[in-house]
Amino acid sequence: MIIKDRKELEVKCSPVSVKEGEEIGVRLLHELRESENGIGLAANQIGINKRVCVINVKEPLVLINPKIVEKSKEQFVFPEGCLSFPNDKVKTIRHESIVVEADNHKGQLSFSANSKDINDAFECVCVQHEIDHLDGITMFEREFKSEPLVRGVNAPKKIGRNEKVLIACGTESKTIKYKKALPLLESGWTLVKP
Ligand SMILES: [Zn+2]
Repeated sequence: MIIKDRKELEVKCSPVSVKEGEEIGVRLLHELRESENGIGLAANQIGINKRVCVINVKEPLVLINPKIVEKSKEQFVFPEGCLSFPNDKVKTIRHESIVVEADNHKGQLSFSANSKDINDAFECVCVQHEIDHLDGITMFEREFKSEPLVRGVNAPKKIGRNEKVLIACGTESKTIKYKKALPLLESGWTLVKP
């Protein structure tokens, strides 16, 4: 049974021993396989408020007491879903790459969406999504919102014409020179990051 109540999912999870975490991990992976199209699940989504989550994009991955120890300044926009909210899709903004430490992994784990393989982006976003769950944060809080920019009105003046900017439209995003972005910003694209 997957918890679908947003209030219940807003409770922060507590740390767990590796032994108990591994048992919860097995249950989570089982639950994830039973789901339709699920790629990640956090313990509080099945009513266990402990810091364990699983990700299954490229291979099954259990994270016990995970912590994001490094995150890139670069961010990107990505369409997300959640097993707790099967009817919702949210365009979120996430870090392009992160480094994670977890009690059941000796070394650090690196995830980066900066690759030609779309699965890398899915995995990188999924890890951020699941760790958020453990902190009581849902994808709705990461929603990407931006005001359409009008040239000369609310466009930050300090951006140089040759400076690279991140722009987004729908689920697409790209980094290009500001002068090349200007016409796009007038046709539905929005400036994410100067
Ligand atoms: Zn979720």
